[in-house]
Amino acid sequence: MNCLDILQYRSLARGPRLIVLGAVHGNETCGTQGIRRVIAELAAGTLAITRGSLTLVPIANPVAYARGQREGDRNLNRDFREVVSPETAEDRIANHLAPLLAAHDVLLDLHSFSSQGEAFAFIGPSDNQDELEPFAQAAHEEALASVLGPSRIVHGWMSAFAAGVNARKGSGITGSAINDSVAYGVGTTEFMRAHGGCAVTLECGNHADPGAPDIAWRAIHQTLAHLGLIDRPAPATRGPKEVIELHQVHDRRDPGDTFARVWRSFDRLRQGDLIATRADGQPLTAPQDGYVVFPNPNALPGREWFYFARPSARIVP
Ligand SMILES: [Zn+2]
Repeated sequence: MNCLDILQYRSLARGPRLIVLGAVHGNETCGTQGIRRVIAELAAGTLAITRGSLTLVPIANPVAYARGQREGDRNLNRDFREVVSPETAEDRIANHLAPLLAAHDVLLDLHSFSSQGEAFAFIGPSDNQDELEPFAQAAHEEALASVLGPSRIVHGWMSAFAAGVNARKGSGITGSAINDSVAYGVGTTEFMRAHGGCAVTLECGNHADPGAPDIAWRAIHQTLAHLGLIDRPAPATRGPKEVIELHQVHDRRDPGDTFARVWRSFDRLRQGDLIATRADGQPLTAPQDGYVVFPNPNALPGREWFYFARPSARIVP
């Protein structure tokens, strides 16, 4: 399948421009299913856009989706930008999606993950004027994330990724050229923020979780109501949030580097807990109370092995 389906609903009344993406990773189909359910509701007239505009892309990576794989030629959610001389399927897809994202105010990007675990939302940085990822809409993202459903909110992707790139340069061990560039950390949401919008990634659960499409569908409805695109009261926030900051990324350096146990994402750590041991015997321990995030026992040397995350000082309402 080499065609992008893009459906757009424009109210005659002015309002925010929302875009919702499914299957940026081709094997993550909960967003596709949730979006298709919304399309059916709009067609049936049980749902109507009364303000602003809604753009739906049920399958953002049709090449990977057709193969039932995460990627076609490369990860669409890294180094996301318009490419002058496209070489890969994802380059060609990004050349359609990047200008489309730039023409919107808010992105809801729907994903799922390979490990077991509960859904969580990924938001961008606090407001800042740093070089890496300047931003001024943190309050908008926090407010949106707080109504999506999941109580776990994660941030800190770009700063942890950039620190990892710098550590890689310092170690003399490199993975691949793309993994050694900070620009490689830019996905759909980072692109959106760099082009004046705000964005939330919703990780709806395990790839095969039968409840994940429902979480995606509910999140679209909540977003529509929150932004005032449908005639429904803005939803209330859903109770206390667990806000987590990605702090450090550790690369695997050697095939002999081993985890201390089988980790799941967001397993809790006490300061000093042994997370892993390097092939040369060096222990990697938790520098403070926190969490293991995105552990990948099959990581290649030079690639991300796991993240250490810690409780965040940010308050999400
Ligand atoms: Zn994904």
